[in-house]
Amino acid sequence: MEHEIAEQVLLEKLKSNFGYDSFRLQQQEIIENILAKNDTLVIMPTGGGKSICFQLPALFFEGITIVISPLIALMKDQVDSLKANGIAASYYNSSQSTEEQEKVFDEVVTKKIKLLYVAPESLGLLQNILNKNYVSCIAIDEAHCISAWGHDFRPSYKQLSFLKKSLPGVPIVALTATADKATQEDILKQLAISHATKYISSFNRENISLEVRPANDRVQQIIKFINKKPNEAGIIYCLSRKATEQLASKLKQNNIDAKAYHAGLPFEERAKTQEAFIKDNCEVICATIAFGMGIDKSNVRWVIHYNMPKNIEGYYQEIGRSGRDGLPAKALLFHSYADVIQLRQFIENTGNKEVQEAKLDRMKQFAEATVCRRKILLSYFGELIENNCGNCDVCKNPPQFFDGTVIAQKALSAIYRLGEKEAMGTVIDVLRGAKNATVLDKNYQYLKTYGVGNDISWKDWQHYLIQLVNQGYSQIAFHLNNTLQLTDFSKKVLFNGEKVQLTTPVEIKKEEKTTITKTRKRAIKDTLFERLRKLRYRIAEEENIAAYLVFNDATLKEIERERPRTDEEFLTISGVGQRKLEVYGGEFIEEIKNFLKEKKKTKKDTTLETYKLYKEDFTIEEIAESRKLKPATIFSHLSKLYLEGKDVSLDEFTTPEVIKLVANAKKVLKNEMTLKPYFEFLEEKVPYEQIRVALTILQKKR
Ligand code: ADP
Ligand code: ZN
Repeated sequence: MEHEIAEQVLLEKLKSNFGYDSFRLQQQEIIENILAKNDTLVIMPTGGGKSICFQLPALFFEGITIVISPLIALMKDQVDSLKANGIAASYYNSSQSTEEQEKVFDEVVTKKIKLLYVAPESLGLLQNILNKNYVSCIAIDEAHCISAWGHDFRPSYKQLSFLKKSLPGVPIVALTATADKATQEDILKQLAISHATKYISSFNRENISLEVRPANDRVQQIIKFINKKPNEAGIIYCLSRKATEQLASKLKQNNIDAKAYHAGLPFEERAKTQEAFIKDNCEVICATIAFGMGIDKSNVRWVIHYNMPKNIEGYYQEIGRSGRDGLPAKALLFHSYADVIQLRQFIENTGNKEVQEAKLDRMKQFAEATVCRRKILLSYFGELIENNCGNCDVCKNPPQFFDGTVIAQKALSAIYRLGEKEAMGTVIDVLRGAKNATVLDKNYQYLKTYGVGNDISWKDWQHYLIQLVNQGYSQIAFHLNNTLQLTDFSKKVLFNGEKVQLTTPVEIKKEEKTTITKTRKRAIKDTLFERLRKLRYRIAEEENIAAYLVFNDATLKEIERERPRTDEEFLTISGVGQRKLEVYGGEFIEEIKNFLKEKKKTKKDTTLETYKLYKEDFTIEEIAESRKLKPATIFSHLSKLYLEGKDVSLDEFTTPEVIKLVANAKKVLKNEMTLKPYFEFLEEKVPYEQIRVALTILQKKR
């Protein structure tokens, strides 16, 4: 490559081979650096878009780009993905027959392929092609595996250090999602590329909303959560193997398509479960942290932590498996006091106890935070953000502080009267005047503080006591059966009149009493998205590839929104390149046309009927009643009429405040078109009709 390649040319390739219109942050610089044959270090979070950084330059090089990756299971997927985009690629590993391997050599020598994926173990077998006549670039994925400092050291990566020596003129690109400073330096040293240009991206995954809830009734909460997200894939992480199985079976009883996954299951079964998940054949996986390492599925829409993770690194990595396509995703963590105690017990028996305890403490602080959670998360990785994120539960619903001095006094004096000998459960029982065996056996009913807190629910007491612990007014003696004890601070409250600020517990709405089967069935509507999804599924089955390799969710959503009806229109969709247009375009366009034809006729008549009644001054309720439709449907008719320029005054159905809230949500949700994400973003406080009306007004304004 003697001369520089113009930006325009890079963009054209990006569109024709990957279907994207623009580069994400830093991608272009990285690509230009590689094309200039410089060694390069890329640190980018999962889902950031590392692959394109070496795949695009590979198209311009004379020889092949060798991609070294430790995950044999992923190679086929990655090669399939390239082929789906019309890029010639192969992989080479020990699972192949000699003939298959010979064929790969042939493809290299005759320059038929642009990329070759290999496992580090197999590199030694490639001696005959490892020279500058054939190889133009070497990309090392999951590069942290080379460092003993990293969290996932692999001895086979050690041998990669010879690459620079034997191929001095060939640029080496090391890529990883693990940021830690010591590991970074070590990667460069081990690979002998200390002068490499470094690109370190932000670890902020803005599209993943963060939420922490107390763990009461978590199974019910999870069922409700999933029922609101029909057809969306998610992972639930549990601490123990048994818990994954129990939870999966409870979910199944509630008609949720869930499967368990942990290292104790037979290999066959695990492989089958993983495959079903990747192919959109199974929606929910209840797993131990063994699940996810080798998973490259871009449309995981949510991750739930049934139990608290051991540390923030683990938490970040696990939630990072959602939303890789950049669309909104949700991370929900259940915080339970019992989990913390259990994790502490695990730590007791391990080597570097102090470090692990400190890490667990940071995790706990994150879970109990009353400030923006993303700030805490990123600061843990050394990244500071100026503003609150607006997409975590604390930002959306800031805790309300109140004067909790009396509550604190009651709690602390109960702890005092119990001789600092009881754990949280019994302290609460005494405060609430419970008449259970523990209380009566020990004659606690005669204590002065017995029953002084019976006006506060059990759950709320738990919330307050945890806060008192967090603020240092009490402490948990982990070495003495987790009994609650007083501290120097407690005395100030009990004797010196110190005031205590507490936060009000967050309301979690009661389970609706509808039967779950019904809600799930009803929720899956005949939308265009559904039809596109089904079509995608059918094609993926036929080609025996993962559904997202046909089009990922982001692309499918855009197709739904834009409804392209010609090849030119179809090609403007992000994620549609030349090959995908040619292979899939026709079928998708046809599906859209059919859908529109069917809907148009029925819609037109019914909307006009509503308009007639509206003009006769009937109220929304009256129109809904007389037409046997839901008010929400009537609102959707009126919105449509309003957009068409008919004489409908929508403003009277909403307020400027609501419009402002929705406008803000619209920004965060990147102009999402369906209502549900708004409803959820606004904490279910703004009714659907109002959201629809506000969105319509905003749309018209534009
Ligand atoms: P990583 O390897 O960093 O985890 P990937 O390379 O798998 O991430 O990319 C994550 C997702 O982002 C993929 O679905 C990919 O197609 C998409 N993507 C990458 N670059 C772009 C881009 N410039 N525009 C739109 N989507 C992109
Ligand atoms: Zn926030």
